[in-house]
Amino acid sequence: MKLSFYGAARSVTGSRHMLEVPGFRLLFDCGMFQGRREEAVRKNRDLGFPPKSIGAVLLSHAHIDHSGALPVLPRQGFAGKVYLTRASADLAGIMLEDSARVQQYDCRYVNKQERRRGRTCIQPLYDSDDVQKILKRFEGERYGDQVKIAPRLTASFHDAGHILGSAAVRVKYSARGNTTTVLFSGDLGRAHMPILRDPEPPPPCDVLIVESTYGDRLHEQLGEEMKKKAQDLLHHARTHKSKIIVPAFAVGRTQELVMRIKELVEEGRVDPIPIYIDSPLAGKATEVFKRHPECYDEETSKTFSDAGDVFASRYIHFVSSPEESKRLNAMRGPCVIISSSGMCEGGRILHHLKHAIQDEANVIVIVGFQAEHTLGRKLVEGWDVVPIFGVPTQRRAQVVKFNGMSAHADRNDLLAYVRSIDPLPSTIFIVHGEEKQALSLGAAIQTEHPQIDVRIPHHGSTHEV
Ligand SMILES: [Zn+2]
Repeated sequence: MKLSFYGAARSVTGSRHMLEVPGFRLLFDCGMFQGRREEAVRKNRDLGFPPKSIGAVLLSHAHIDHSGALPVLPRQGFAGKVYLTRASADLAGIMLEDSARVQQYDCRYVNKQERRRGRTCIQPLYDSDDVQKILKRFEGERYGDQVKIAPRLTASFHDAGHILGSAAVRVKYSARGNTTTVLFSGDLGRAHMPILRDPEPPPPCDVLIVESTYGDRLHEQLGEEMKKKAQDLLHHARTHKSKIIVPAFAVGRTQELVMRIKELVEEGRVDPIPIYIDSPLAGKATEVFKRHPECYDEETSKTFSDAGDVFASRYIHFVSSPEESKRLNAMRGPCVIISSSGMCEGGRILHHLKHAIQDEANVIVIVGFQAEHTLGRKLVEGWDVVPIFGVPTQRRAQVVKFNGMSAHADRNDLLAYVRSIDPLPSTIFIVHGEEKQALSLGAAIQTEHPQIDVRIPHHGSTHEV
């Protein structure tokens, strides 16, 4: 069989890996590229392979950098099915709809300015008709079930503990009495995080494709230190009547952040300040969370049955209409505004940043991974002037990083994941990490297991396994 890598190879976004056996091609993920605008547009329109030749897509989870290019497929002749967990099917549905809407909105906003400057307009990658077409091809599966994908090919989904519905996907190919198994980790979560169950131990496999987002780093512990940091921030906002702006993936981090702040309030460590979750998607995603208790850990299941709705509170407001969102721009603090996109590449967060970034009393809190060339990355790197909607804007607001909130496994978690595969795979491909992280993790795995063939594929490369 052959494996080819068309995204998230020595980079993080645009996860797309192709597995080819005689007579059949399948795709692990079909994600959207984010980063430098022109490069991203090019790579999102031309996926790197003819979609017509793909028989099936197996989706690890609903995050847009893994699912966001799915609606491009039917337009280019894809006629197969998309297999994913049931919770992912629900989540990806609302996320792709939202992605189409955000693209349309952002294009309209940017084009208004571009036209004024006499430049050519940009077009959305897809619209909601394209989204409907791909949703009809979704096949929601239960964790652990063996699903027949094609003759001689089956697949199963194993809880990855990263976001609701996330899975490592295992494919089994049987031919001439031989069986080969490939395990694609998707994004791996961490043990002991709120809401979701811990990642399942990986099933045995011959070939492993593993993520490396934090392949060279260890996370802060989710302990007292982090709580103190959050407490200080909320005090700061109250004292200075300022805004705390949190760019967050609408699914996962947002729900977790809300639970963390609620904990601090319930423990009497901070007085509540208004929290605005400014994302129609986050509201809908929270509804999807409520529909899938099969994905919760014990603690969350218990809280749900004891207290009803864990996400509700008198100081938490879900904002859905654009008018309400605009009102937040003009409003004074103290308040927390959680909005997406998580890497500040589009959507309402850009408007909040535009209005808040020039006031030194405000704080921008970064809780998720920020890919190269995104606005979020520039903020993390401490740029004094950043482009917002293409306009250079002075940054006076403070930027604070919260690593411990990450939904990704760190270096030790990733090494432990590999170590726990019994027997060890013969080949490992390291993906979904920038070059430095991927190389660093690769070297560590190679040192620990000299017998494994460890490869760090380049974009567009094909490997015989
Ligand atoms: Zn993810």
